[in-house]
Order: sequence, then C-alpha cells, then structure tokens
Amino acid sequence: LQGEVDRMERLSLVGQMAASITHEIRNPLAVIRGFVQLLNERSPAEQKTYFHIVLEELDRTNSIINDFLSLAQNRIIEKEPSNLNELLNDLLPLIWADANMRGQSIDLRIDENIESIPMNSKEMKQLVLNLSRNGMEAMNDKGVLRIETMNLPDVVQLRVSDNGVGIPPEKLKQLFEPFFTTKTNGTGLGLALCLSIVERHNGKIQVESTVGEGTTFIAAFNKPAAK
Ligand code: ADP
Ligand code: MG
Repeated sequence: LQGEVDRMERLSLVGQMAASITHEIRNPLAVIRGFVQLLNERSPAEQKTYFHIVLEELDRTNSIINDFLSLAQNRIIEKEPSNLNELLNDLLPLIWADANMRGQSIDLRIDENIESIPMNSKEMKQLVLNLSRNGMEAMNDKGVLRIETMNLPDVVQLRVSDNGVGIPPEKLKQLFEPFFTTKTNGTGLGLALCLSIVERHNGKIQVESTVGEGTTFIAAFNKPAAK
C-alpha cells in the first residue's frame, strides 16, 4: 500500500511539474519568437546579437527539457559497485576546462581509502557536474572549487565546496525545489535532480553555507553493509 501512495504522490507531483515546465518553456520560446521576427528588419550587426540570443534561449529550453525528463522519469536505475574517486578522475578534465574558462581553479582532495558503493555512473556524474557548476557560478574569477571524497565508517561522502557568494539562511529550504532559481538564466532543476539522484543511491544531501564566504554541499551514501 505504501508503494501505491508513493506512486500517487509522485504522479501528482509530476502533474504540478508539467504545469510549471509549460510555463518555464514558454518564456524562452516567446523571446525566441520576438527576436526571430526582428531579424528580418535589422542590420547585420544587430542580427548577430539576435542570433546569439536565440541560440542561448534554445539551449536553455533544451536544458530545461533534459533536466525535467531526468527528474520526471524517476526510473529504476541500474547500479554496479564503483569507486567514486575513479568517477571523479573521469570527470576532472571536463570540470577543469570549465573552471579554467572562468579563471577559477580546482582543489581535488581524494581519500585513497574510499570503498566502492553501488552506483549508476551516468547519474553520479550528473550529480558531480551539477554541484560543481553551481559552485563555479557562485564564484568570481578568483574562486577555488574544492571537490573532496571521504571514507567514513558507515558512509562514503562527496563534498563540493566553493568560496563564492553563499546562500542566505531563508533560501536554504527552497534550494532543492524544482524551478527554484536566483539566476536569470537558471532552470532551477539542477539541485532537484541532485536530490533525486542521491535518494536513488541510498544517500542524503546536506548544505552548509555562509553568506560572503561560501557553500559546501555534502552527499553521503550508505555503504551496503551499513544498511
Ligand atoms: P540553477 O543553477 O539553474 O539556478 P539549481 O537547482 O542548480 O538551479 O540551484 C538553485 C539555486 O540554488 C541557484 O539559483 C542558487 O540561488 C542556489 N545555489 C545552488 N548552489 C549554490 C552555490 N554553490 N552557491 C550559492 N548558491 C547556490
Ligand atoms: Mg544549477
């Protein structure tokens, strides 16, 4: 019965989200329509700017749809025992390139004793990328993004810290809600997706933040034996 209740709750949540996503996608579409209409009548220089805006808004629509789908599917995922450090190693070139482009740096702190846990590497990579990207977006060009793994007695931890703007206490509660964003170009789906990924991996996610100093997201995954 509990499974059935959860299923109903999920379905109604998806219904509410369908309403929000319609709203969210209409915004960039309206912008695109407006600028495409203007393209006709403008000088080549102006056209260049408009093309740029149109492409950005199309990308935005695309990421809203992608994130939303990953979130709504809530599918049963395949997991296999994997090492978080190895996963980070695979991702590092990508994260490093992103940081480099922003003039920021990465401080990687690996716990060599990390134990393998069951994971879906595609989802886990998405988690690391979303947290890293948020960290980078919160910092200026002197920012340092710290990515850390820790093997604790019952859990394996992933910590992503930035020395960026920080999050005011009254906003902390809303962070993981779908479509909550403070960015002009944000989708507000990144952390909602992170939460669902962590939960599908038998874990918990926490955030510690001080305005003006920075933010740390901590994802802790139960080791199979501890459950
Ligand atoms: P988006 O990045 O598209 O805005 P997210 O769900 O990833 O959506 O994040 C939601 C909001 O949480 C962000 O708009 C921002 O206000 C806040 N946030 C997330 N990560 C951080 C961080 N590392 N530092 C400061 N604020 C953050
Ligand atoms: Mg984000």
